[in-house]
Amino acid sequence: MGVYLHMPYCPYKCHYCDFNAYRLPPRPGVLEEMAGGIAEEILRAGGEDRGREVRSIYFGGGTPSLFPPAAIARLIELLRDRYRVRPGAEVTLECNPGTVDLPALQALRRSGVNRISLGAQSFSRETLDRLGRGHGPDDTRRAVELARQAGFENLSLDVIYGLPGQTPLQARRDAEQALALGPEHLSAYALEVEDGTYFGVLRRRGELPLPSDDDVVAAGEAVRAACEAAGLEPYEISNFARPGRRSRHNLLYWHQGDYRGFGPGAHSHFSGRRRWNIAGPGPYLRAVASLGDAVAGEEALSEEGRRGEWIYLRLRLREGFSLKAFHRRFGVPLDVAYPGVRRALLDQGLIERLPGRVRASERGRWLLHRVAEPFLP
Ligand code: SF4
Repeated sequence: MGVYLHMPYCPYKCHYCDFNAYRLPPRPGVLEEMAGGIAEEILRAGGEDRGREVRSIYFGGGTPSLFPPAAIARLIELLRDRYRVRPGAEVTLECNPGTVDLPALQALRRSGVNRISLGAQSFSRETLDRLGRGHGPDDTRRAVELARQAGFENLSLDVIYGLPGQTPLQARRDAEQALALGPEHLSAYALEVEDGTYFGVLRRRGELPLPSDDDVVAAGEAVRAACEAAGLEPYEISNFARPGRRSRHNLLYWHQGDYRGFGPGAHSHFSGRRRWNIAGPGPYLRAVASLGDAVAGEEALSEEGRRGEWIYLRLRLREGFSLKAFHRRFGVPLDVAYPGVRRALLDQGLIERLPGRVRASERGRWLLHRVAEPFLP
């Protein structure tokens, strides 16, 4: 299984951000208080998963790199007490380029963090300003340099494409500048504008110059070409890695593995049952202090729901899935569970013609919702 820890504060709120993230309140002790609450949740958590083997730990957010390294180290220690953390387990911490220095990175490395995921997003000063990011391209370059100095050999960079005013050529340049820093992994997501964000407001007012769908696809293809040219294989729709450097934690999600989430709004999944925490930091902390947990809801996925999700997640992966694996997992052949669907998708050119496997075609990868739709309940 994997463990996810949600660290909900950021130095500012980016204009596109739809995550459960809050601008850091300007009062002393907020980060320590939150880390203490998460520690309390780990200590008092029920025993269903105690002692299980953990292969990945992921500090996400928010901006985990805002937290004192000692607080991160304590959380890792608590997880080591609660679980059997596999030797060599992947321990990732998301960093914002403007929030790291060498002593902090060295302390994180000593505490067991062995993978840094750095939110570069773009290498254009103008684009970063438009996104509301509080850092510049040089902060990212410096953060990579410091992470290497601190001994991190597994580094991932995030970039976003399909940005307001961005051409496919600029998207490619962003990716190339990220790749020039030699990361082991790159995540490249197309911008999605959500209601409730500042970009959502601008879009409603007609003030957000978004690129056309064709330009977004062209940008995505340009990013992929840049990754492949740099020796990173596209193993998932939005993720690229050097051999042996795929994100183990994300692969666990894509394979419907079990994971436990701690922190505000964190989700957990055990064999088709999902649970999620209260999202707001204040209510989360109060619930943990009084009840020992902060569970806000729970649901069990139906068999059809699990099947549909299994297919959707595997279609995101480059390798797709084998018909045998589906049959083994659900006790029924794919063509019996979904009569005529595979043929129709083949005829539309949305999946590839491969013996014994189902894999999204080049076109299908851009239209994944259409490929997956007939399989979803
Ligand atoms: S740093 Fe990440 S989590 Fe924080 S506001 Fe920006 S996009 Fe959201």
